[in-house]
Amino acid sequence: MKPLIIKISDRDNVAVAVQDLPAGTEVLPGIVTQDAIPQAHKIALTDIPAGADIIRYGVTLGYAKDPIKTGQWINEHMLDLPESPSVENLPYGTNLKPMEELPDPPRKTWMGYRNKTGPAGTRNLLGIVTTVQCAAGVLKVAVEQIKKELLPKYPNVDGVVAVTHPYGCGVAINAPLAPIPIRAITNVIRHPNFGGEIMVVGLGCEKLTYDRVLPPEDITPENVLTLQDWPGHDAMMQAIMDMAEKKLKKLNERKREELPLSELLIGMQCGGSDAFSGITANPSAGYAADMLVKGGATVMFSEVTEVRDGVQMLAARCPDAHTRDRLAQEMKWYDDYLDAGGVDRDANPTPGNKKGGLANIVEKAMGSIAKSGTSQIVEVLSPAEKPTKHGLIYAATPASDIVCGPCQVASGIGLQVFITGRGTPYGLDISPVIKVCSRNELKAHWFDMIDISAGAVATGEATIADVGTEIFNMILDVASGVKAPYSDQYGFHNDMCIFNPAPIT
Ligand code: CA
Repeated sequence: MKPLIIKISDRDNVAVAVQDLPAGTEVLPGIVTQDAIPQAHKIALTDIPAGADIIRYGVTLGYAKDPIKTGQWINEHMLDLPESPSVENLPYGTNLKPMEELPDPPRKTWMGYRNKTGPAGTRNLLGIVTTVQCAAGVLKVAVEQIKKELLPKYPNVDGVVAVTHPYGCGVAINAPLAPIPIRAITNVIRHPNFGGEIMVVGLGCEKLTYDRVLPPEDITPENVLTLQDWPGHDAMMQAIMDMAEKKLKKLNERKREELPLSELLIGMQCGGSDAFSGITANPSAGYAADMLVKGGATVMFSEVTEVRDGVQMLAARCPDAHTRDRLAQEMKWYDDYLDAGGVDRDANPTPGNKKGGLANIVEKAMGSIAKSGTSQIVEVLSPAEKPTKHGLIYAATPASDIVCGPCQVASGIGLQVFITGRGTPYGLDISPVIKVCSRNELKAHWFDMIDISAGAVATGEATIADVGTEIFNMILDVASGVKAPYSDQYGFHNDMCIFNPAPIT
């Protein structure tokens, strides 16, 4: 018989309903639902006195506000949030899994576009980056024209992307936090999928001047184009078309070649999570992450507020004090950032998360962390930094889907695995996004928008290793250009919402 509830750890005093459960259902011998329990929501497995711990994943999610009876539904209004764990003097290196204990990847190579430095590309794109939003309107029109008139002549080029973002002018360009958005723009110009071909379009009077995003030797008439230099619409468009065609000619010479996994850099993100995310999809993605790491690839996970309550678990996976310190530093920075805005990490969960059974940020974090797998964290990055090591990387970014994505893209990911419980059409135009869902109901509903369902893990029809291997294979197929995820088939691509915590003037 399929299980009615799922309990994760022996310590847990709650479990999660696999399906909607009517009141009066015997879920375990002697445990009968007192209320109707919605799918993915929690049921009390014992009587829980007021003030006592409510435990899932072996972790205290919160404290019972009032006494809770065995079989009762525990919703988000019934818990008090615990204090955020301290980031001072975190023990490190206490949970370092040896590489040989990670699952073996079934494939050791993929087909990518090799770059002179850094990870290989998963796509061959002409990326045109603006230095300021003022240039975005012109560039978007120009890119449509490039796609129509030039791209068909260069069949080895997969596409043309206008990287338009809200930064560049009207900002405090020398503010202490300005390096974050500037680094994102600098690094996205060098994205592995752009093949080293630089094309930057500016207006001419903006604060983000070329020298802030390019070294002097790259600021040439071949690479940068200033709209204010051109007399009127036609000349301006022609200048962009001419520059684009030169770049397309070069990009058209690129070919995919068989590469080791060490040439692959991918990102993991979740969004619209539910209480199944941490049972099915995120651990399956984590299994794929472990396989990739064992094969020598680089895997990035992020989303500060969604790991903050598990910081001690991450520190335990840091091999040295430096990595632990960097982790603590990034957590502290984000605590202060939220504090300055008058909130804390519990501002993160959405109405959809709560409807999906996630009571608070602690419960969400425990599920979110699962997508990092079990390997050692070899490096911690600030938002939009590029990794310098292979293996599992923690890249601190906001958890907001549409901001985390661009941060990871700036860090150079060739694709992103995106795990969802509620469903989102989210996608990125620079790096393909593979959508993995936590429940079969979502896959049935969005059958032609979700790439992989991990729902069979909850019903006992598949293991985490089964779905993890399926995700791993899809990652390599998409990275190699053999498969396109649904978001790319439909062209569902979100904007480049770079993270700018600095003042706007
Ligand atoms: Ca997210």
